[in-house]
Amino acid sequence: MNKKIELLAPAGDLHRAKVAIMYGANAVYIGGKKFSLRSRASNFEISDIKEAVLFANKYNAHIHVTVNMIPHSDDFDGLEQYLIELEEVGVTAIIVASLTIVKIAKKVAPKLEVHLSTQMTSTNSMCCDFYKQFAIDRLVLARECNLKQIDSVCTNSDLPIETFIHGAMCTNYSGRCTLSNAMTLRDANRGGCAQSCRWKYHLLVNNEIVSDENTLFSMSSKDLLAFPYIYDMMKSNVASLKIEGRMKSAYYIATVVKTYRDLIDEIGETQQPLNQQRLDYYQNEFMKAENRPTCFGFLDHEPDKNDHLYGINGAGVTHDFLAVVMGYDDKQKTAILQVRNHFVIGDEMEVFGPNITNQCFKVSEILDEKMNFIEVCNKPMQIVKVSIPFAVETGDMIRKR
Ligand code: SF4
Repeated sequence: MNKKIELLAPAGDLHRAKVAIMYGANAVYIGGKKFSLRSRASNFEISDIKEAVLFANKYNAHIHVTVNMIPHSDDFDGLEQYLIELEEVGVTAIIVASLTIVKIAKKVAPKLEVHLSTQMTSTNSMCCDFYKQFAIDRLVLARECNLKQIDSVCTNSDLPIETFIHGAMCTNYSGRCTLSNAMTLRDANRGGCAQSCRWKYHLLVNNEIVSDENTLFSMSSKDLLAFPYIYDMMKSNVASLKIEGRMKSAYYIATVVKTYRDLIDEIGETQQPLNQQRLDYYQNEFMKAENRPTCFGFLDHEPDKNDHLYGINGAGVTHDFLAVVMGYDDKQKTAILQVRNHFVIGDEMEVFGPNITNQCFKVSEILDEKMNFIEVCNKPMQIVKVSIPFAVETGDMIRKR
C-alpha cells in the first residue's frame, strides 16, 4: 500500500496555492499565463511561481505547472525561455499534453519532471511502455478508467501513475473536445474552454423547439467524488491523487484538501478500508463546501443517466464560509477575523484549519475596527474581534451550518 501517496491540489492564484499547501496538499498544480489550459483563469507570473515554490519548500511540498495546451505552429514563441525559467525557480514538474513540448522540455530544462497530462487519454499500461521512450516521469491516467483498469496499469507499469479523484469531469474523453471551439471560437485545447457543455440547451425535433424553460438540459457530467475508493487506489500503489478545480475558492480548496488529507492519513495509519460511519463523516465534510451534484465517474460502473447533470447546479451545501482568522490573543481569548459572510451574535460557529478540526463556539461578543461593540457582521473583508474560548491560528477558517 502506498501510505505516502501524493495529494495534488489545484490553485488559481498564489493565495490559493498557499492555502492548499497549509491545509495538507503534498503538491499543488498551477498554470502560468501562457501555454496552459485554463490560461484565462491563471494569475501566475514567474515571480508568483517562484514565491509558490519557496512557500512549498517550507512544507516539503512541490509545485507543478501546467504547460498542457495543444500547440499549433505559431504557439511556440517564448516556450523555451519559459521552461528554462520554470526550472530556474525550482518548479518540480510540468504537466504536458504534447510530445513536442516534452521533447523541448527535456532538451532545455532537463531538471523538470515531465508528467503526461490526462489530455493524452492514457487508459492502459501499454501507453506507459510507449511513453517511457520519451523519458516521461509520470503519467496522468484518463478519467475514463475504472478501478480495475487503474490497478492493472499500476501493476503492469513502473511509471508513477496519477489519477483524478475529485472535481469536474469533461463530457468528452479527458477534455478532447471542440464544443467550445464550435460555439464560441474559444479553443478548449489552447486555454479557452467556455464550458459550453454546462450551458442550458433546448431540445429541437425537426427544427422545432420541444423543450421549455423547465426542461432545459445541460450536456455535462456530475462532478467526480471518489473518496470511498481512496483505499483501493492506495492499495494499487497509485502515486498521486489529483483534485480538479483551479477556478475554485480558497474555502473550497481548504475544505476539500483537509478532508482528503485526514482521510488519506487515517487509511495510511489503519491500513484498512473506512467503515460506514467514517465514510458518512467524510461525506458530510465534503458537503460543507460549494459543490455540484457528484458521482463516482467511471470508477465502479459505466456512467449512466444518473451520473448526468440535467441542468441542476447546486448540491445542497450545508455550510456558509464566514471568516478567516488573522490572529489570536491567548490572554484575552479573542481572535481577529476578516469577515466574508454575514453573521450575528448568538450564531454557532465551526472552526477548521490545518491543525484544528471542527471546534465549535457561540458568538458572544464582536468588536469593530474602532472597538465598538456590534451585533452584526455584514461587510465583506471587514476586520473584527470576536471572543473564541479556545486557541485558533492565523489561516484557520470559520463557517456555520
Ligand atoms: S466544453 Fe465541457 S466537455 Fe468540452 S472541454 Fe470544456 S468542460 Fe470539457
